[in-house]
Amino acid sequence: MQTLIKNGTVVTEEKILTADVLIEDEKIITVEKNLPATGVDEIIDAEGLYVLPGGIDVHTHLDLDVGATVSADDFYTGHVAAAFGGTTTHIDFATPAKGETLKSAYEEWLGKADGKAVIDYGFHMSVVEVNESILREMEQLSGWGITSIKVYMAYKNILQLTDEEIFRVMQVAARKNILTAVHAENGDVIDFNVKSLLRDGKTEPKYHALSRPPLLEAEATHRAIYIANAAGANVYIVHVTAEMSLAQIVESRKRGLKVLAETCPHYLMLDDSYLELPDFEGAKYICSPPLRKKSDNEALWKGLSEEDLQIVSTDHCPFNFKGQKDLGKDAFNKIPNGLPGLEERIPILFSEGVAKGKISLAQFVKLTATNPAKIFGLYPRKGVLKTGADADVYLLNPNAERTISVKTSHGNLDYNPYEGLKIKGKIEKVFRRGKLIVDGERFLGEKGSGIYLHRSSPIVN
Ligand SMILES: [Zn+2]
Repeated sequence: MQTLIKNGTVVTEEKILTADVLIEDEKIITVEKNLPATGVDEIIDAEGLYVLPGGIDVHTHLDLDVGATVSADDFYTGHVAAAFGGTTTHIDFATPAKGETLKSAYEEWLGKADGKAVIDYGFHMSVVEVNESILREMEQLSGWGITSIKVYMAYKNILQLTDEEIFRVMQVAARKNILTAVHAENGDVIDFNVKSLLRDGKTEPKYHALSRPPLLEAEATHRAIYIANAAGANVYIVHVTAEMSLAQIVESRKRGLKVLAETCPHYLMLDDSYLELPDFEGAKYICSPPLRKKSDNEALWKGLSEEDLQIVSTDHCPFNFKGQKDLGKDAFNKIPNGLPGLEERIPILFSEGVAKGKISLAQFVKLTATNPAKIFGLYPRKGVLKTGADADVYLLNPNAERTISVKTSHGNLDYNPYEGLKIKGKIEKVFRRGKLIVDGERFLGEKGSGIYLHRSSPIVN
């Protein structure tokens, strides 16, 4: 089966050109000007459209059990939402319970995706406790196609590791060429703050943010970078939210230290004023780290345009307002943490970033596809439009406009944090490994057709 996408504006990290993309079965055969249509089964006219490499979201939490409840999207509903948003690959976090082996968490997450996946997926492995057997098991990760781990400096007594534990994990990661992703917030101080606030009767959503100020993120970011470099490990700071944390990253690089980092759409678009919405609606905007100030939004956009941040991911972890977020009606620490983003990431970054002139089209492709592929061991199979790559492609009409609303979103959620946001640019078609899975408003993906990706070593230059 051959498909020819004709006359589109093809965008890669290096160049923008009017060209045709020839797809055969699951792969891109070639990207060239004026390709002949002889023998081609289907021709798609992409004149006036951008032809872009399928998005890769390296930070999602589908079907995640957080104790009191489970994140609202599973590997089907989350994938449908992702596909409508131009994302054809994601990396989720396999997270073992304490006492559980890494292998069993890996198998559990394969089971969550099995029979449901529509887009392609991989896993990071969360390391939530450190002992000899976990450290030994880490040596096997790359054999399962897992080349990145995640450690938490926050969530005391649940996920948090001590500095010594993080250092020991990073030493193994360095030896095995595994990238360590770090949730950088000072969990000890936050835990004390949460208890103090609740004791004083300060239970509303806005106190969640006050319990974990940007200073405690910046401090942990600094510590993560320095510990990683002391261990000789490659480190990736997830969900950078604040100017102060970004400054730690920039300053560390000036000193010759190695660090990579991401931010997420909600930290670019939303600020802490949302936490004060009446009728408990602030709970819709509870995530960790929390939303910051408008000045932080602006600093992060600058961080993208100056390429101090390498990736925009989503930390997609949705919880319904009714029945989930309201678990925390009487205490902010019981509100499940997380916002959606899988469907909104690419449209928002295009509209607010490219169309408003904050980032270039090439940077947009790097942030959403090429850098994620390189840093997380999927390049050049994913993240690029060139011969031999998977035919993960979407077509975007830069001039069409629409408005984001929960009524037209595809995830399994009863609200949309970007409700009413006017978006420039509309995704018209999405191909995943050569198969058309989104055509306008129609979803054509087959449940269970997404595949698990064995990732290679990170490219961190
Ligand atoms: Zn997360």
